[in-house]
Amino acid sequence: MPKDFLKAARDEYDVIVIGSGLAGLTAANLLGRAGHRVLLLEQHYKLGGLATWFKRPGGHIFDISLHGFPYGMIKSCGRYWSRELADHIVPLKSIRFDNPMFSLTTTYNREDFTQLLTARFGIAPETVKAFFDTARGMNFYDDQSLTTRQLFDRFFPGRDDVVRLLMEPIVYANGSTLEDPALTYGIVFSNFMSKGVYTFEGGTDLLIGMMHDTLRRNGVDVCIRCPVQRIEVDNGQVRAVGVAGRRIRTRAVVSNANLLTTVLGMVGEQAFDPRFVEQAKAVRLNNSSTQVYMALNADERLDESIGDLLFSSTAPEFRTDLLLSRNITSRTFSFYYPRTRPQGRPRCLIVSSTNAEYDDWARLNEADYQAGKQDLVETTLDALEKYVPNVRSRMAYVEAATPRTFAHYTAHAAGASFGTKFEGLAVSRGLPEQVRGLYHAGSVGIIMSGWLGAINYGAIVANDVDALLMKSSQPMQPAGQGTVT
Ligand SMILES: Cc1cc2nc3c(=O)[nH]c(=O)nc-3n(C[C@H](O)[C@H](O)[C@H](O)COP(=O)(O)OP(=O)(O)OC[C@H]3O[C@@H](n4cnc5c(N)ncnc54)[C@H](O)[C@@H]3O)c2cc1C
Repeated sequence: MPKDFLKAARDEYDVIVIGSGLAGLTAANLLGRAGHRVLLLEQHYKLGGLATWFKRPGGHIFDISLHGFPYGMIKSCGRYWSRELADHIVPLKSIRFDNPMFSLTTTYNREDFTQLLTARFGIAPETVKAFFDTARGMNFYDDQSLTTRQLFDRFFPGRDDVVRLLMEPIVYANGSTLEDPALTYGIVFSNFMSKGVYTFEGGTDLLIGMMHDTLRRNGVDVCIRCPVQRIEVDNGQVRAVGVAGRRIRTRAVVSNANLLTTVLGMVGEQAFDPRFVEQAKAVRLNNSSTQVYMALNADERLDESIGDLLFSSTAPEFRTDLLLSRNITSRTFSFYYPRTRPQGRPRCLIVSSTNAEYDDWARLNEADYQAGKQDLVETTLDALEKYVPNVRSRMAYVEAATPRTFAHYTAHAAGASFGTKFEGLAVSRGLPEQVRGLYHAGSVGIIMSGWLGAINYGAIVANDVDALLMKSSQPMQPAGQGTVT
């Protein structure tokens, strides 16, 4: 008989969280910690969403999205999870750029960038300062009509090399373009510039394991392999979710699934004002990614002077459309040394990531798809040879993921890496005004994406849900001991 992964779930909760990405996990944790009865439902067999990893024989563990995040993660993890978890967050040592315009190594913070921009790129110190101050001063309530391109034109007219330095990592990080609102660039760039790029020592598996333990301690019931089909709304109020043939009653839902899947799929158009539905339909999905995972032979070591992150490109000029093309010219390599997982077997791994369009891969038949993946592997190894000589003979294991892989594991429409574009935020925040008890916490545009953005968004929404539940007259039963199926 197939296993019933929902067996431990009760028939009713205060809140049901759909999806265990970092936003879903954080919302569930905070609501459980506040004493609410919380059920977390995840369709995959693992928690974490895009914050995930996989193992291959020989002691190799690959991280999918642990390339780097801003310093702010220390504060957020300490507040919303635990000091113990935050203590694993450590700085990356060096970030490299290598392209036809320049090759350099940086600690990727304001001090070092100021030095580079003035001494190496010849920009006047007062211009650099004014640029940093402008980017740092941006916030969500600012004018959103200024584009990133206009921002750069204002400070660095005609300086494509400077734009490349300032923009390439951010485009890689979230697929944003020069036509997106400048504030989305300014906020994310300034977050990184405050103190550089950080990582989680111990790997994603340790992080998610620690989060899972915390959820249990906070009384959250966690069920994996439980795809939610339906969010039931009646009379403008969330009533229940439909999952694995069961109807589980709830006073609130936090969906961490893709915003569009939530609104147009799980809830359905009929529950919303038609103008809101139009607004939701106009929200663009973000692009997807390809990755190549490479493990060196067990006794092979990488020279750490290669750096932790390398933004490499062979494109003579910087164009955001080139970064999405299947004809790959730009790759971001993450190098993982044994210090990534001090608790594990000493291994060196490399992950190459590239932004990609879902349709370029979705339309291929099976034979062409497999050939496309093989080509991705071979061209990536060719590109890596420049930085890791004799790479093929040193390699124990290579595998590729495409937008189809991301769609398969996360159920994100079109394998979107960062949910939706920026306009998704207004729809995400507007849900509870349309349906009482309906919330979304998950990647919507650049600010609410990435590990830090997702965790912070989960916390913001948990706060909203807590306020709703506290206002409601129904008496709260104390949270029990969390169960896991
Ligand atoms: C290749 C790549 C590299 C990245 N690198 C970085 C990086 O270096 N630094 C960084 O900060 N960020 C990075 N990111 C982005 C970051 O990983 C994500 O923004 C963040 O993890 C998203 O969290 P989330 O909470 O929005 O949800 P997601 O991680 O998208 O999770 C959503 C969850 O919902 C579940 N779900 C969906 N539908 C259902 C359903 N019907 N029922 C139940 N469950 C459902 C999914 O299975 C999934 O677990 C990267 C992303 C990609 C793709």
